[in-house]
Amino acid sequence: MHKPELLAPAGNMEKLKIAVHYGADAVYLGGQAFGLRNMADNFSVAEMGAALDFCHSKGVKAYLTINSYPRNEALVELEQYLAQVAPLPFDAYIVADPGVIDAVRQVSPERELHLSTQANTINWRSARFWQQQGVRRINLAREMTLNNITETVKAVPGMEFEAFMHGALCISYSGRCLISSMLTGRDANQGECTHPCRWSYHLVEESRPGEYFPVVEDENGTFIFNSRDLCLLEHIPALIGSGLHALKIEGRMKGINYVASVLRVYRRAIDEYLDNPAAWVCRPEWLEELAKLSHRGYTTGFLFGQPLDVGQEYQSAYIRSHDFVGVVDEVQGDGTLIISVRNRIKTGDVIEFIGPGMRSDTLTLGLFSSLPERGQPVPAEIAQPNSRILLSVPFDVEAGDLLRREKTTSP
Ligand code: SF4
Repeated sequence: MHKPELLAPAGNMEKLKIAVHYGADAVYLGGQAFGLRNMADNFSVAEMGAALDFCHSKGVKAYLTINSYPRNEALVELEQYLAQVAPLPFDAYIVADPGVIDAVRQVSPERELHLSTQANTINWRSARFWQQQGVRRINLAREMTLNNITETVKAVPGMEFEAFMHGALCISYSGRCLISSMLTGRDANQGECTHPCRWSYHLVEESRPGEYFPVVEDENGTFIFNSRDLCLLEHIPALIGSGLHALKIEGRMKGINYVASVLRVYRRAIDEYLDNPAAWVCRPEWLEELAKLSHRGYTTGFLFGQPLDVGQEYQSAYIRSHDFVGVVDEVQGDGTLIISVRNRIKTGDVIEFIGPGMRSDTLTLGLFSSLPERGQPVPAEIAQPNSRILLSVPFDVEAGDLLRREKTTSP
């Protein structure tokens, strides 16, 4: 059985290192232009070099997203950008626009090309067309069913295919959406989406400005555009069985908590399936882990046909049960941890440490030491966000492990 690539988002250097720590086989990242996630931190050209060194030293592939649809005015800048990144050993570029493909062919003719989901490939003839253009891999449109995916993979031998298996969904066709452009002047297809599909909407009658009427009775408003998030964890055997080469996680703008938690679940689920397909079950603790993350309800999207009402989230915007509170920066020689605090913590908090392979240990926080920029550590009972603390714990922890706290255990 072939092993599919687990492909993870890397919105910045920290997220990239977390993705590698939690088992990604490959990561995708954007530069500061042309990458459709202009509001993620993204990478400068110098940072890309460091990111590639890091990934390749760990045997992880790295792909550069250049999947916006630039207008004529941006083409000179595009060519300059392509020339800047040309010496960097990216394993592939992720592209969508034929004009960008043309420009890459001119500047980096040997570069492997992966076609973005933005190109909306939804049938095998499209896939064959792109193969004839020299594209190596296609990320299939999220609107495809499992049967369509399987047929398309079989119909175009030699082409690699990937599909999203987890993350946010657009309510428009493969992200070809104008809501953000209309409401905020920021064009989703230029990487500037402000995600207005996730805002709360009401109805206003023309002659009564300022009076807001709910379309459906709900104290949180009406989320008429609000899609649930994609989660195909339970269908990993079917996805692998379809012949997909890569299974992709959405979310370059999400935090390291999301990257770590989603990856540790999918890494484990895929590995268990490959080890013993006949005995594979989707473990409840994996689903519980995904439920702990901020999400908008889960759906299988179009995998089994039209999602109808199961794809629409009518209740509230986001659900999550845990707060991410810190990350282990370093494990010192004597086992003491240096922790970067991201949310206020205090003595008495019940903190869970999570690591790759679904490793998890919990402790009630006692006294710890805060670590000032300069000077000696000071005993402390409270640590504020963006501070660092020293802590000893009675279990094994690695740099890159995360700390989280159930939302009810601390104000
Ligand atoms: S507004 Fe929503 S549906 Fe439209 S592109 Fe942005 S995320 Fe997608």
